[in-house]
Amino acid sequence: MRYISTRGAAPVLDFEQVTLAGLASDGGLYVPESWPSLSADEIAGLRGLSYVDTAVAVMAPFVEGTLNREELRSLCAQAYGRFAHAAVTPLVQLDERQWLLELFHGPTLAFKDVALQLLGLLFERFLAGSDKQVTIVGATSGDTGSAAIDALAGRAGVDVFMLHPRGRVSDVQRRQMTTVLAPNIHNIAIEGSFDDAQALVKAMFNDPGFSGRFALSAVNSINWARLMAQVVYYFYAAVRLGAPDRPVAFSVPTGNFGDVFAGYVAAKMGLPVARLVVATNVNDILHRALSQGDYSQGTVVPTPSPSMDIQVSSNFERLLFDLGGRDGAATRQQMHGFESSRAMRLTNAQRDGASALFASDRVDLDDMSLAMRWAYEGAGQVIDPHTAIGLAAARRATLPADVPVVTLATAHPAKFGDAVERATGIRPALPARMGDLFDREERYATLPGTFEAVTGYIAERAVAV
Ligand SMILES: *Cc1c(COP(=O)(O)O)cnc(C)c1O
Repeated sequence: MRYISTRGAAPVLDFEQVTLAGLASDGGLYVPESWPSLSADEIAGLRGLSYVDTAVAVMAPFVEGTLNREELRSLCAQAYGRFAHAAVTPLVQLDERQWLLELFHGPTLAFKDVALQLLGLLFERFLAGSDKQVTIVGATSGDTGSAAIDALAGRAGVDVFMLHPRGRVSDVQRRQMTTVLAPNIHNIAIEGSFDDAQALVKAMFNDPGFSGRFALSAVNSINWARLMAQVVYYFYAAVRLGAPDRPVAFSVPTGNFGDVFAGYVAAKMGLPVARLVVATNVNDILHRALSQGDYSQGTVVPTPSPSMDIQVSSNFERLLFDLGGRDGAATRQQMHGFESSRAMRLTNAQRDGASALFASDRVDLDDMSLAMRWAYEGAGQVIDPHTAIGLAAARRATLPADVPVVTLATAHPAKFGDAVERATGIRPALPARMGDLFDREERYATLPGTFEAVTGYIAERAVAV
């Protein structure tokens, strides 16, 4: 498979190159040159397969030319062998039609592990035998950072510099990052929001004076390999609920538009997806974009669902590119317009294309709490604030009565224990495998959110090319 940039002016790459590159050199994001498809028979053939076998069937076309099926299977077996549930991503039924897809059984208790456990192994494999030293710079609203750090701690050939907004991640999220003392892991708390941290990372990639000095790479969901790994669980869940004979809807708690874009890819590959519900908290740029065509950046409001406190959704560019006829020059112009004015309108073609598959909803604090209580009182399920936003939107969505609705349960409730306790009165326990997280030593730097401060800190510690 070959990969092209959404802005049309970066080199075409293969899977190995696209994994190591992250962001494209023209500022765009990489997407497959064309969408592979699975026939209805092939989708029916996924019934009863294990998670690992499903993963191989779904991802094989994307890694073609770089990994064969056996190599892919062995990486998947290793990555998903670290999950605490034998089904990897089990489905839980809430009522006649509402389901949860639990994506939080990995090492750091959020769905980011599904992609990052695999990505860590891909990096290791692609760097083995070379003397290349890759410098990963990332911004995290909490979960990407902890998942990436778990996946990459102690691995040869990789240094990780992870920026998080100081005081705006939960204690569990912070500790999962800052108690990893491996010498290749560098945590940086910056003054500012997640969007500020993400803008700093983008600026580093786009500054030739800085990016030219290091082999920079990304583990944010701008990295294609992450999205690819997330396509798998849409297939896995849907075939268990009757696909390809029955369409299934998904409600996705959304921030950077990565997880739900993976659902779009699944639909493009032939999975009968009745609807993708994009659920946001009060940071609702995506809801405004999808319902009114207005993609304009607001100010970030901190909420109990911090992984969705985002007002610029990087992966939305991939959708705009695909819906806009895959015209790199047009996407470049549209994104430059957004970058200079912090606002843009979707074209009619983009709006029509989006409304054929997506719905969207904005869920406030009260409705989030109500959804948590409903899940607990109705089905005995304690859910986290992000999942609750997805579930609130799922229950409000207008869909045919015979379509099952799967809410992606993106985090373990104990990762956001304070918020869960406030809403439900129940304090979810951290799984025993988290051990002594609250007794371990923490290590991180605190820096102002300026380009000079952060690049200065990284330049002193990273290995130059
Ligand atoms: C990252 C994250 C999200 C948002 O996912 P995107 O891919 O950024 O849209 C939602 N919930 C949790 C718990 C997360 O960690």
